[in-house]
Amino acid sequence: MKVAVTGGAGYIGAFTVRALLEAGHEVRVLDDLSTGHREALAGLPLRFEQLDLCRDPLEPALDGVQAVVHFAGKALVPESVREPALYYRVNAVGSLRLLEAMHRVGARAIVFSSTCATYGVPDAVPIAEDHPQRPVTAYGSSKLSVEHMLRDVAHAWGFGAVALRYFNAAGAAADGSLGEDHDPETHLIPRILEAARTGTAVQIFGTDLPTRDGTCVRDYIHVDDLARAHRLALERAGDEGLGRFEAFNLGTGRGSTVREVIAAAREATGREIVAQPAPPRPGDPPALVADARRARERLGFEPEHDLDAIVRSAWAWHRSHPAGYASDNGAVGARAKAVGECERGG
Ligand code: UDP
Repeated sequence: MKVAVTGGAGYIGAFTVRALLEAGHEVRVLDDLSTGHREALAGLPLRFEQLDLCRDPLEPALDGVQAVVHFAGKALVPESVREPALYYRVNAVGSLRLLEAMHRVGARAIVFSSTCATYGVPDAVPIAEDHPQRPVTAYGSSKLSVEHMLRDVAHAWGFGAVALRYFNAAGAAADGSLGEDHDPETHLIPRILEAARTGTAVQIFGTDLPTRDGTCVRDYIHVDDLARAHRLALERAGDEGLGRFEAFNLGTGRGSTVREVIAAAREATGREIVAQPAPPRPGDPPALVADARRARERLGFEPEHDLDAIVRSAWAWHRSHPAGYASDNGAVGARAKAVGECERGG
């Protein structure tokens, strides 16, 4: 298929672009490079269009395209709590413009980056796809609004639309060529590994929560596994999925606490990692774990990597790329401010 990937220069986007190319699809990447990295696509046989989904004409970039994998968007829970309008504009308005342009050019299959944040604080875990969606942040609400658009256009315009609700994406490529590079970085695994590398402390947000050791439980899934799931979802959307909206959780079905992730990182790095208790982050549910059965049954998707493999691959990337992709240009150590806040897809 001829596939456009919005946000294809981002973390999960770049892994998915590779998976699509390897499967023989023709790929065009649409990215404004606000958080993505052109280097992540270096040397790949694809067409790249730098554009803003909220402002630029989209039809020329989508001309001839049959299907879209839509990653482009804002994805930070704390930022969305502070700046909700930004989240509705980029995520909801950008997606609406994309759908209208797809309709005009005749592209009818779409796979959308959604999130377990659309469930809000779940009644219980694991969370199945039919669990009520009651998001508690503008991030979750803006993503849910796009799911609603997709359901409606699937019925009205005959689109095949799949929403993939990610749990926690993590890890890096086995060959060391791709990894997580957010600036500043907010995500747990890179922050733990930065603490391991530099000897600084990592904060644990919430230590008195109703979980097995008092810290947040999350379902970490390797980004290579996620990329494969996108390919499977796309092929389904463009074939038997036309005229239908479907949602899939993408997780492993196994949760790990923050303390368990730190223990896995101590094992993978062989380093003492100092952890410091800190207050919980606003908008963070205590536990989010996927019921992963629907993706297994309908997509034939089974994650291959466990937490140890995720942390090991992330450590190999982190050590060789302490300044992210800029490390490949001799900028090792340039990014001293490795902690803070940033963008993600999950
Ligand atoms: N977390 C933490 N310390 C950090 C970063 C994250 O304790 O420095 C916790 C966070 O509260 C959450 C989990 O780790 O429970 C995963 O956070 P992340 O930002 O990686 O992903 P999220 O679950 O927010 O999508």
